[in-house]
Amino acid sequence: MITFDNVTKIYPNQTTPALSGVDVHIDKGEFAFLVGVSGSGKSTFLRLITRELRADSGRVLVDGQDVGRLGQFRVPRLRRKVGMIFQDFRLLPGKTVYENVAFALQVIGRPSAEIRERVPATLDLVGLSTKGDRLPEELSGGEQQRVAIARAVVNDPLVLTADEPTGNLDPATSVGIMKLLDRIHRRGTTVLMATHDATIVDQMRRRVIELDAGSVVRDQATGAYGTA
Ligand code: ADP
Ligand code: ADP
Repeated sequence: MITFDNVTKIYPNQTTPALSGVDVHIDKGEFAFLVGVSGSGKSTFLRLITRELRADSGRVLVDGQDVGRLGQFRVPRLRRKVGMIFQDFRLLPGKTVYENVAFALQVIGRPSAEIRERVPATLDLVGLSTKGDRLPEELSGGEQQRVAIARAVVNDPLVLTADEPTGNLDPATSVGIMKLLDRIHRRGTTVLMATHDATIVDQMRRRVIELDAGSVVRDQATGAYGTA
């Protein structure tokens, strides 16, 4: 589903690469954690998958497509296959929960009959079926992240990338978010999550890919946060 083939990324005006010679393959239906200290390259890895960034050398394949070679007008089609969530939720503040989720379908031109069916079903999936009329600022952090997850998966993407999704949440709330991501994974979505949360990684016992200064230094099928 995702292949990094000798990928190097150097940001403009930087001398050291953010990623250097990275080779990773993630199969359809996997759940993988990306770990490593701040600045090790986790966000850069995720942003190459969504074509927010392009590699300087090597190839990034998503669902068999070399995303670095996609023309600008093909990027939206890639993004329909890849849902994204972030530490800071990134909801539209003036729109209700329902509208935030519906908007993801409206911008890709889905018919309103489908929107009326999918949005409530997805709010139900994330446990927010009674909160459709609320504004994001009326919700707790955990609820806001659930809205963001609903928005990311309402289109049934192949891949979900999550960049520190529990970074702003307390431990109990984080567990709820991980249960939800696990449920989404079990529905068939490939999930790739960058995190600093050792407790979560140690509890889930999934694949762990560790980056250090832009290189993969560990890749274990069922790993823990640290090696010690
Ligand atoms: P992580 O997500 O693990 O914290 P990042 O992928 O954000 O790591 O960063 C990897 C390296 O790239 C760091 O050295 C960081 O300072 C650098 N970097 C990240 N974004 C930019 C940018 N927009 N411009 C220049 N350097 C950047
Ligand atoms: P439009 O774009 O046509 O103004 P909306 O996107 O606001 O319509 O709503 C589309 C459909 O979803 C409508 O049938 C509306 O009644 C329904 N709807 C809107 N908000 C909610 C909600 N919070 N809960 C359930 N259904 C809603």
